[in-house]
Amino acid sequence: MKKKMKKRCDWNRNSHKREKKKKDRGIVDFAMIQEHFFKNLPDWINEMEDPRHESYVTYTQADFIYMGILKNACSVESMRQMEEKFNEQTCIETLRLLSGDRKLEEMPHYDTLNYYLEKLSPQCLSEIRRKMVCSLLRMKQFYRARLLGKYWRVILDGTGLFYFREKHCENCLCETVKDAEGKERKRYYHKVLEAKLVLGENLVISLGTEFIENETEEVKKQDCEWNAAKRLLGRLKKEYPRPPVCLQGDSLYAAEPMMRICRENRWQYIFTQKDTRQPVVGESYEWIQEGGGTTAVKNIGKEKGTGQYANHVEETAGKEETIHMYEYEYTKKQGEGEKTVRFQWLTNIELTKRNLEEMVEAGRGRWKIENEGFNNQKHGLYRIEHLNSRQKNAMKNHYLLTQIADILMQLYMAWNPLIKEDGQSKKNTSSRLLESFRRQTVTDEDVFYIKRYTTIYLE
Ligand SMILES: [Zn+2]
Repeated sequence: MKKKMKKRCDWNRNSHKREKKKKDRGIVDFAMIQEHFFKNLPDWINEMEDPRHESYVTYTQADFIYMGILKNACSVESMRQMEEKFNEQTCIETLRLLSGDRKLEEMPHYDTLNYYLEKLSPQCLSEIRRKMVCSLLRMKQFYRARLLGKYWRVILDGTGLFYFREKHCENCLCETVKDAEGKERKRYYHKVLEAKLVLGENLVISLGTEFIENETEEVKKQDCEWNAAKRLLGRLKKEYPRPPVCLQGDSLYAAEPMMRICRENRWQYIFTQKDTRQPVVGESYEWIQEGGGTTAVKNIGKEKGTGQYANHVEETAGKEETIHMYEYEYTKKQGEGEKTVRFQWLTNIELTKRNLEEMVEAGRGRWKIENEGFNNQKHGLYRIEHLNSRQKNAMKNHYLLTQIADILMQLYMAWNPLIKEDGQSKKNTSSRLLESFRRQTVTDEDVFYIKRYTTIYLE
């Protein structure tokens, strides 16, 4: 009897799922999300400085950029596959609707798109992203993501993108690696540093990109994450002068020059503390702790561990910049015994018994975001390591297109009821989007649905 009941309830759930899938409008919903959050996106794209010679223009810039966005959103790996999959009459009609180009008659060829991306200044796509981010920052629905109700969390994260055996261009970074037999060989590669903006627990978008690369082949010292960070932060302050920011990064950034940049930009910071990076600060904190000068808060965080802090450690450590230090500790079972896990951070936000738990969560959250962020972009939906073009300018633009598509895709996924309620995977969401883009004819009723004003609930 019990078994039967269970089956019926399964059946109910499955039929409920089928009903919902029937209502799933795929590409139409994707367009609706774009219309809701970035109504003017096609105009912004068409207003970019067009790098093409006027007499050769068949496609609008929006045609190209939307095609690139859809390649990413539909999780199509290569440019060739894109051309094959998007070769449908329905695709042309939907692209026409998205880009607003009424004269569009054919999908652009992939080499035409690549040729355009070779010429376009990456600064243009960066500016599109800035406009998108600014629109989101103005929306009240994201305010609750701010740290302590005030600061937007910005996370620095670098990763390697493309690796080559032979020198690929004059900007390549170079390192010596050992192969399986222990033989040394040179490796050429391109790296990128991202500033990510936290808009919600599962909504972390690209705010700024800095390519880590050598200016010329002749440079004495190679470019590195630290120098790229300085350039990136300088640009971010110009692009986003007003929003209150809390910058987060791993222990690499826990050094006074970075803290000075934060102070000059009127930003807060939280950096991971490691004794290898800041030994004197670590020793000073311990000295304060031994003298009973730290404040402890018990039973916080999801492990019900202990938080502890000391403000103004810089006075003891003889540092110029404001440094408050805090830590979080909990024990977990390991085999027969127990293991203590401990994290430490430095910050210039004055610590209190009241804000400590939130500060601990913010510190730990960075690690999770870094782990999932690039991993998802590399092995999940987008394959950012796949080389869509060997030409270095197009390479950058392809990367930026992925970041723009990712903003739309994350909003779409945070809204999508099939993911929220039925746990549909990201990969399946992309496949459904591709199928819908290839097969679905967008009707007048769909267009009305896209354009109408509604409230969008995320997550
Ligand atoms: Zn190169």
